[in-house]
Amino acid sequence: MTPEQFRQHGHEVVDWIADYWSRIGTFPVRSTAAPGDVRAALPPAPPEQGEPFGDVLADLDRVVVPGLTHWQHPGFFGYFPANTSGPSVLGDLVSAGLGVQGMSWVTSPAATELEQHVMDWFAELLGLPASFRSTGSGGGVVQDSSSGANLVALLAALHRASGGGTVRCGVEPDRATVYVSAETHSSMEKAVRVAGLGSDAVRIVEVDGDLAMDPGALAARMARDVARGYTPVLVCATVGTTSTTAVDPLAALGPICREHGAWLHVDAAYAGVSALVPELRELQAGVEWADSYTTDAHKWLLTGFDATLFWVADRAALTGALAILPEYLRNAATDAGAVVDFRDWQIPLGRRFRALKLWFVLRWYGAEGLRAHIRSSVALAQELAGWAEADQRFDVLQPHPLSLVCLTPRWPAEVDADVATMTLLERLNDSGEVFLTHTTVGGRAVLRIAVGSPTTTRTHVERAWALLCEGHDWLAADFATRAAEQAAARR
Ligand SMILES: *Cc1c(COP(=O)(O)O)cnc(C)c1O
Repeated sequence: MTPEQFRQHGHEVVDWIADYWSRIGTFPVRSTAAPGDVRAALPPAPPEQGEPFGDVLADLDRVVVPGLTHWQHPGFFGYFPANTSGPSVLGDLVSAGLGVQGMSWVTSPAATELEQHVMDWFAELLGLPASFRSTGSGGGVVQDSSSGANLVALLAALHRASGGGTVRCGVEPDRATVYVSAETHSSMEKAVRVAGLGSDAVRIVEVDGDLAMDPGALAARMARDVARGYTPVLVCATVGTTSTTAVDPLAALGPICREHGAWLHVDAAYAGVSALVPELRELQAGVEWADSYTTDAHKWLLTGFDATLFWVADRAALTGALAILPEYLRNAATDAGAVVDFRDWQIPLGRRFRALKLWFVLRWYGAEGLRAHIRSSVALAQELAGWAEADQRFDVLQPHPLSLVCLTPRWPAEVDADVATMTLLERLNDSGEVFLTHTTVGGRAVLRIAVGSPTTTRTHVERAWALLCEGHDWLAADFATRAAEQAAARR
């Protein structure tokens, strides 16, 4: 493809994406494809000859679009949002076009220095401790995901706990312990497995009535483990759990970690970016105790996957764990210690120029634009929670400080509540107008409504609420009719 051909087809692709965004509201949010549908629409053999680009574009509409769940749809309320935006896509396009590998400073100084700068900007905007800045003892780096960040944090913590050993972990692997709660994201246990500690190293600390980690329980478990010869390596505290956005109390957990020399990692994958807004920053009070911190710009901050913002307070622990310098990567700048080589801050060697899309997003929206997006999602969610709290048909899980609302529909006593709730969920998702997901709290099925797509307006939230109410009434009546029929049949 020559540059001229690229220009022509590139314009076609940009038009295609713009058209997709313009009509996204007309698609059913959740894909209606059955297993195997997408593959059945593809030829069995790979193309032997090149094909006209127009044929590929046509197949996007024919094969791909019907197999999509439309995450950018204004009626998407599932999981957590996975925002993208024009400036993010364009930044990614430039990154793809440049095709540089930013593994070392010398392989493209702009890739490293723009990333350092953007990460310092975000540390400032989120009110993170001065130690997280590149000018302090630590620094920020863009990771592929918070799952990856959780693993990297654990490796740094193991390195520190081992007294700086690299060849062999100074902590006996079967003596290392890692503290989570039952609400911690599953990627932390996966990290423990990947690190070779085995799931037995995981200690599940009790939570309080708000599903937040109980500091007293953490202190007791750690003390017991230490007495039995274990080494507490890391505590993973979550700001905004995936299930319900519960917030672990950083200010209370920090001193306990410090007492036992354990690394405090803060997983704020979804909620961290809310600290852009001063009135929500209090949720992260105590963040100055953190040894590392992760939040995803690719969930709620208008930036396409992958863009995890990860900081450490002491970069030496991180690079001590991950730096290896083979001869073929040696260069004068690295040898002089004059630069940062981000390959030493992550698992893979190669790295995309992800700072570009963050830079584009920041410059297009400005901090004020990003704050407006966060505030609008939170306001819509709070409004929805208010409607549900005032309605006898629903219970609302408290607290709900951000843009996720967890609802439990109330059902007549003779109905299996979880079956009814999940039936309601399916009914809503089958409507094609909205998409919600669920969780369990205290063993009971709960509906999650996560607001955060940039295209979601009050009208869409009102529609979701109307569908919830209608669906509830219809199902309650249906269950009542069936119960009456069964009672009559028994007579
Ligand atoms: C979503 C989420 C993750 C995983 O994020 P990825 O960036 O997709 O790996 C980790 N922790 C929490 C609390 C999350 O909500």
